[in-house]
Amino acid sequence: PPKLTAAPAKTKPLASVRHVVAVASGKGGVGKSTTTVNLALAFRALGWRVGVLDADIYGPSIPTLLGLTGKPTKGQGRSLLPMQAYGLKAMSMGVLVDPETAMVWRGPMIMSAITQLISDVAWGELDLLLVDMPPGTGDAQLALAQGTDLSGAIIVSTPQDLALVDARRGIAMFNKVNVTTLGIIENMSQFICPDCGSSHAIFGQGGAQAEAMRLGVPFLGALPLSMALRSASDAGRPILARDPDGPLGLLYQSMARTV
Ligand code: ADP
Repeated sequence: PPKLTAAPAKTKPLASVRHVVAVASGKGGVGKSTTTVNLALAFRALGWRVGVLDADIYGPSIPTLLGLTGKPTKGQGRSLLPMQAYGLKAMSMGVLVDPETAMVWRGPMIMSAITQLISDVAWGELDLLLVDMPPGTGDAQLALAQGTDLSGAIIVSTPQDLALVDARRGIAMFNKVNVTTLGIIENMSQFICPDCGSSHAIFGQGGAQAEAMRLGVPFLGALPLSMALRSASDAGRPILARDPDGPLGLLYQSMARTV
């Protein structure tokens, strides 16, 4: 089973959720959302009850990744019932608000929207709620990290220097608010040519691992740049749902065990 042992979530509305873990990246487009969804499914494959909260207001991609359609239904009082996909509970800003509206929101509005997503959704009993954070280290991210009782944060980065500089800022932000960085995942680590089988380090290689060692945070593993992963994501049927015990599925599961 996963080893996640950090302090459990204590925030009142989340009393029924054992761990809230943020998945963050310094910059966009590094595969944070893709990793969140597949990691959630890996935890589920290991027997955990898992929810995914898409707090990436600027580019909510969880609905696409999980093939969520329609609107969530109302629960008791003012609560909303989470949507369901592949055995996960899920809620996204993207199914509630027009992303173009949210684009122009300022920090406090973003924060109150996210707080509502956490407290007004009837998550029920969960072992883990993974929060797909907005990229970057602005006020909204800081407020989210401060305002929720996080068990920790997972940082996703490509091996590229540019992404790593931003990832480092992310870790510094979490340190500042006493949130443990549970580990770094290197995404798009290398590309294996499907024709000739040779491996290419398109964004460089090993950067995130070296950085993790330098910062003294756990390195959770490296994910390849994979066409199958990308097309499964675009089709709304994550690779972990399609092939949980394939090479990628096992990689995600090993990461979930290491956290
Ligand atoms: P972020 O949440 O960091 O903005 P996404 O998860 O939305 O990033 O990923 C950005 C794009 O890269 C998407 O099209 C996604 O399918 C693709 N992608 C992410 N990780 C991989 C990977 N390991 N291999 C191939 N494509 C990937």
